[in-house]
Amino acid sequence: MGSEIQRIHQLLVEKKISCTDLVQGKLDELTKSTSNTSNFLLTDYALNLAKKVDQNIANGKEIGILEGIPFGIKDVYLLQGSPASGSSDFLRNYISPYTATAIQKLLDAGAIPIVKENCDSFGHGSSNENSVFGAVKNAVNEKLVAGGSSGGSAVNVAKGYTVFSIGGDTGGSVRQPAGYNKVYGLKPTYGRISRYGIMAYASSTDVVGPIARTMEDILMVLNVMSGKDYHDQTTINSDNISLSDCQDKEAAQKLKVGYYKSFINNKAIEPGIKTDFMALIEKIKGQGIEVVELDFLDSETLVSTYYTLAMAETASNLARLDGTNYGNRITGTNLKDTYAITRSENFTVETKRRIVGGNQVLSQGHSEEIYLKARQIRDIITEQFESEFEEVDIILSPVSPNNVPEIGNSLKDPMTMYLSDAYTVGFSLGGLPTLSVPVGPSTGLQVTAAKNQELKILQFSNLITA
Ligand code: GLN
Repeated sequence: MGSEIQRIHQLLVEKKISCTDLVQGKLDELTKSTSNTSNFLLTDYALNLAKKVDQNIANGKEIGILEGIPFGIKDVYLLQGSPASGSSDFLRNYISPYTATAIQKLLDAGAIPIVKENCDSFGHGSSNENSVFGAVKNAVNEKLVAGGSSGGSAVNVAKGYTVFSIGGDTGGSVRQPAGYNKVYGLKPTYGRISRYGIMAYASSTDVVGPIARTMEDILMVLNVMSGKDYHDQTTINSDNISLSDCQDKEAAQKLKVGYYKSFINNKAIEPGIKTDFMALIEKIKGQGIEVVELDFLDSETLVSTYYTLAMAETASNLARLDGTNYGNRITGTNLKDTYAITRSENFTVETKRRIVGGNQVLSQGHSEEIYLKARQIRDIITEQFESEFEEVDIILSPVSPNNVPEIGNSLKDPMTMYLSDAYTVGFSLGGLPTLSVPVGPSTGLQVTAAKNQELKILQFSNLITA
């Protein structure tokens, strides 16, 4: 399957469809959908932009490849003048005062945002049930969860309601819902895309990630959004990646692949996921690619390290939400009471669990034993990745060890939900680029490379899906 963006671009240029009809069609589908993917439709905003694209085409102007392409935005990004709720009661009526850099770059390229998408509140979750707008339904089987936290974005792409969507990934939130809904989802190298204008969850692992139906579309959107931004001091310069390099099969054939025994031999992995993953490994070996087994920390260590740090960072980041500067204020009998009621009433149970946990691991008497220890383990994880990538180019794993859960189960059992992130969180702690590819195990295949080696990931994915 070639680029969907390219296909629609061609239809627009050849005047086989108008941009207004295209955008209106997608908005109608979103309105009729029962998947619960939309928090807010950007109807007037999008139709206005579509009209301008139609005028440009009518005037014989050349249009850019992304011009007029409808896309979705996870509801944690700011788009000036539009709602940005983080799927929370706190910010239900919040209007963005400025636009996130990543989104601005897409607007500058002419892409049209049509919807702010349902997600887990502040990115807290792995099932997209932790949302004040309700659970998102899986695109393949409505009884199952969409995955989280960027569930609305993944389902919109899978259903074709958006051509691509912009999710956010802190510990797996782009890769896991992409895997659950059989589309592509990329977590780029930390710092490749600016985080300016995305609600901070855990700032040291938060990244902006595109979700799309083809590798080509992921590439196009990645190139547009990447680059240094003086608003985000962790951003790095990166070169554009060319499509022809991604399609270079000879180069892909030479990539050396590894997978972690500790992931695959873990008792928590579903037998079917293990069988399908190993069958894929055999197929890859059959294509003449060298595959080796690697040893790594057990996934429980990765999950506990990630959750210790993510909770600590979210407790700090969400301290600013007290109803004074942002969000819905509930007045109590005095100021302290006002803070307490505002925060207890406006955060979800899952978000409060993380704030309480985060403050606990940061508190005096505990921080050295828990928070600082997690920081040390993170350094060990990062060093180990560096040495792994001296030996191999690509690391493969299933996206998640468990089968896609049914709606209702994860909320009852948060620990099982946290463990479903076992294979994604480690790569977040390492700041590595990693892509969910809809092949192999039912939760998808995760293809990871060393920092700034997105090209290898795309080359390899192209080889195994061609
Ligand atoms: N499921 C993970 C968590 O809840 C990851 C979420 C995310 O990447 N935003 O922390």
